[in-house]
Amino acid sequence: MEIIKTVTEMQAYADQKRAEGRILGLVPTMGGLHEGHLSLVKLAKEEADHVTVTIFVNPTQFGPNEDYETYPRGLERDCRLLETIGGVSAVFAPDEASFYPGGADQQRVWVVCPEMSKYLCGKDRPGHFRGVLTVVLKLFAACKPHVSVFGLKDIQQYILLKRMIHDLSLNIRIVGGSIVREPSGLAFSSRNENLSSNERSQAQVLSKAVIAAADMIELGEKSLERLTALMMNTIQSASLAKLQYAEIVDANTLHPVEKLIPGARVIAAVAVYFGDVRLIDNAIADVPVE
Ligand code: AMP
Repeated sequence: MEIIKTVTEMQAYADQKRAEGRILGLVPTMGGLHEGHLSLVKLAKEEADHVTVTIFVNPTQFGPNEDYETYPRGLERDCRLLETIGGVSAVFAPDEASFYPGGADQQRVWVVCPEMSKYLCGKDRPGHFRGVLTVVLKLFAACKPHVSVFGLKDIQQYILLKRMIHDLSLNIRIVGGSIVREPSGLAFSSRNENLSSNERSQAQVLSKAVIAAADMIELGEKSLERLTALMMNTIQSASLAKLQYAEIVDANTLHPVEKLIPGARVIAAVAVYFGDVRLIDNAIADVPVE
């Protein structure tokens, strides 16, 4: 497994593999690797014959009072883990200076999608999706993948990236991986490492809330008030939880739904703070056709 540190080296490496006729797969991550990330690597191996995992904690997607400094980092441990599971050809782990020439604060060109960024996490994290879309486009330019795999855990990110690929005519196939959960239901997240044991056991309310709401929708519940109350009450049953949002949105546009229309696909989504740690979760539901 090659460890590549600069954009120039990564581009040369990708060009060489493309010239050899390889299908290049990409799994972008911020490190702190866990079962969720590994499931995406497995998917990438099925889709491509040469898999690159990127490990880069992207400063431009963090707000000024967010957890950039305390975000879990451990490149050596991450690389050991990838070696153990096998099948990863390269790790692209650039330093900030090589990835953002002149520094992240010198970045002047951005990818934005204001319309779809204003819902869910975008409401509470202004600038977050601008940072995500821009870093992913830069990772695409560095790694030149044919196919890139992202988790449905960050469903707003996934939908926005699909839109970016479509609207900018990028010749890259996007594949979404299902959410991988701990036995308690808690979705794996690098940020779980920063939870106390008490917070971690209470954090299972996120999955309980979204899965209960999605199940109710699929069983025919039509009242958005009842569904939202169900999610809010479930979250608030955890004494350490501070709810940021609990919403049901359209799975294509991310607009909050006003009515559950038969045949529509919707997403029940929540964001919750435990102390300084912000967690998200979601579940997709198809509104039954009567
Ligand atoms: P991150 O390192 O948190 O930026 O995540 C990198 C990729 O892993 C993103 O595409 C995430 O959506 C995905 N991911 C994170 N957690 C999970 C999970 N529990 N299940 C599936 N995919 C995940």
